[in-house]
Amino acid sequence: MKSYTDAIENGKRQLLVADDEFVNREMLGNILESEYDILKAEDGEMAYEMIRQNRNTLSLILLDLIMPKLTGIELLNRLNNDPELKGIPVIVLTSDQDSEVESLKKGAYDFIPKPYPQPDVIKARISRSIELAEDRQIISSTERDELTGLFTIEYFYRYCNQYDKFYPLQDMDALCFDINHFHVLNERFGMAKGDEILKCIAGRLEKAFGDTGSFVCRKTADTFLVYCPHHDDYSHIIDEVSAVIEELEAAVKVRVGVYSFCDKKLDINARFDRAKIAADKIRNNYSVFISHFDEALIDAELYAEQLVDEFPKALAENQFRVFFQPKYDVRGDEPVLSSAEALVRWFHPSLGMISPGVFIPLFEEDGLIAQLDEFVWRRTSETIADWKKRLGVSVPISVNLSRAEMYDPGLIAKMEKITDDNGITPKDLYLEITESAYVSDSDQIIERVKTLREHGFFIEMDDFGSGYSSLNMISELPVDALKLDMKFIRSAFDKHNDTRMISIVIDIADYLGVPVIAEGVETEEQYLALKRLGCEIIQGYYFSKPVPADEFEQFLMQKRS
Ligand code: C2E
Ligand code: CA
Ligand code: CA
Repeated sequence: MKSYTDAIENGKRQLLVADDEFVNREMLGNILESEYDILKAEDGEMAYEMIRQNRNTLSLILLDLIMPKLTGIELLNRLNNDPELKGIPVIVLTSDQDSEVESLKKGAYDFIPKPYPQPDVIKARISRSIELAEDRQIISSTERDELTGLFTIEYFYRYCNQYDKFYPLQDMDALCFDINHFHVLNERFGMAKGDEILKCIAGRLEKAFGDTGSFVCRKTADTFLVYCPHHDDYSHIIDEVSAVIEELEAAVKVRVGVYSFCDKKLDINARFDRAKIAADKIRNNYSVFISHFDEALIDAELYAEQLVDEFPKALAENQFRVFFQPKYDVRGDEPVLSSAEALVRWFHPSLGMISPGVFIPLFEEDGLIAQLDEFVWRRTSETIADWKKRLGVSVPISVNLSRAEMYDPGLIAKMEKITDDNGITPKDLYLEITESAYVSDSDQIIERVKTLREHGFFIEMDDFGSGYSSLNMISELPVDALKLDMKFIRSAFDKHNDTRMISIVIDIADYLGVPVIAEGVETEEQYLALKRLGCEIIQGYYFSKPVPADEFEQFLMQKRS
């Protein structure tokens, strides 16, 4: 196989000009000899012989289609059937439009029309084709993905571009299919099952887009791209792919981002970036499966990128601040401050205050969350220690843990070091773990939570009711409190006035022997109703918004008096 360094060993890349007309050979030779090492062939057989002899050094072939002994098309066929010669790019020299199309279909990279255009145009086409061929060789030497048999990304882009050349007026869509949390699936069921699912999805996509003018490829492990003539509706395809996955008894969601009516002035990969942006918009939405690109998403994407890029600087410059929101024990006649939740905020020098609802999901995606959370846990512990020392009073403060942190084998050691360093105990620092973390990989997470509890940490299950724990699992849950998902509070007090879910969660908590915390409580009406239903702890704007540490001191002082 020819390598990049072979091709430029003598300082110039080698080109073959195959044309039976002396004038043409000389003309191309003159234009190109300052930049390339030129070989010349007068007929098809001679060209073929020279290609074989120089197969390890030849960078490109300029091929006349009409030649004695062997025509250009026949030569292209031979090259195509020889794996050793197939990778050498060919530019076809032709005056005839039909044969131009045929030669492109046969794998020619490009064509140069006769009569010849400006020397600069010729040079540009040649260097572009060489670059393309060399890039491709470096990236991959295969056209098909081994697992699924779909095109690899390099060939996929190549065919999309070729198709556009033939059908410039056809409206095209770029689609990006993505599987949510595919790695979790691999971890739970093993690689073999993961592979089986990918193959089935590939098969189904090929079936759906098998008609001419559509191309399918697997881009990364669990991302599939489709380029096809425009359709108004892709929901039946999503349904079909989801059905395949369901048959395999794997509860995963497939989402698709659609960039319709592609702007063909954009590079082909930029068109698929747009489809991917659309797909990512619904990453955490479990009821929407199709998302269409629109220009506003580019702004959102740029904003997200900016936040991720600026994270290290922001952390170093102390732009993150921890706020505290009180939780009240409401069992007695008068509510009593029982604890608080630490919630992070980003005070950005030019963008102002940014809510964690905006940046936490981004940081979870990019793996930055561990650094931020460690900062929050540390700052919270320092603050608790400071209150104890200065005010002689404190309450336990809950910090939030992200799903990824539950997989960190060093988590417990890290937590203990943070409390030790500040002279506080695990009883001072509660941990809020979202219910969905338990569900995704229950056994492993449950083990981790058990160990945390054995080390004295108090565990609150956050957003309870949103993660669909099975009743079976609930009975073994290692938790110390259930925190009701805010949406139950919302639906209990909207026009439906339905408090049944709240009652159910309270029953479950009774069964487990743990208290229920209601958050997002905004009005006196809500407060009184929850108290009546048997909810023990309440957090929400009714008592206070999250406030900075110094403002929180007034709540502590009330407790002291
Ligand atoms: P969460 O843990 O469910 O936190 C509760 C959210 O509800 C907070 O939003 C809080 O400010 C808000 N809230 C409290 N009372 C009320 C109320 O009466 N009405 C309404 N409408 N909202 C109320 P916030 O601070 O914007 O945080 C959003 C989410 O960001 C949190 O949801 C949590 O998942 C995440 N988060 C915040 N801080 C951290 C952190 O330090 N680490 C991690 N991993 N996640 C964090
Ligand atoms: Ca929380
Ligand atoms: Ca919550």
